Amino acid sequence: MAILDLVLSPNPLLNQASKKVDIIDDELKKLMNDMLDTMYHVLGVGLAAVQIGVLKRAVVMDVDFKIEESSDLNDTKYKITNKKPKFIINPEIIESSSQIISNDEGCLSFPKASSKVLRPENVKIKYLDINGNEIIENMSGLAAQCIQHEVDHINGITFVDHISKLKRDMILKKMKKNNK
Ligand SMILES: [Zn+2]
Repeated sequence: MAILDLVLSPNPLLNQASKKVDIIDDELKKLMNDMLDTMYHVLGVGLAAVQIGVLKRAVVMDVDFKIEESSDLNDTKYKITNKKPKFIINPEIIESSSQIISNDEGCLSFPKASSKVLRPENVKIKYLDINGNEIIENMSGLAAQCIQHEVDHINGITFVDHISKLKRDMILKKMKKNNK
């Protein structure tokens, strides 16, 4: 278990496409478990490998977890319950609904920034799970929004590429300032 450093905007890695995973080996499994630990640590619902600096088409997601205040006297102020992690390898969106919806979206690589983003409401995706089984799954709601955001990441696209130039420039300027 490890908490990894996140790649933050304006790091140009975020604009690079990731490579297909050919072998699901122990190294990849460890990487994806570390990605999951990192995602929960920052209370995110999805994380793509590029966001920890690895250009592989690997994503972890959990849109179901709950945060509970912890009464323990140690330094953890909350605990995460109801974990339902998904390990998603080489995902492809094979169908998108024609209904487009607008939802607030943020990104772990763009701290404290968010914007409304338009996306299809439902998608059907095909991917390999951590055991190499091919899965075809319909996603809706937050899961559909999240997987589209993560598939963008592995194609070198971030949520700011979906918004107006004015809003994008504002966010990018803020990110540059943060990283100074
Ligand atoms: Zn993101």
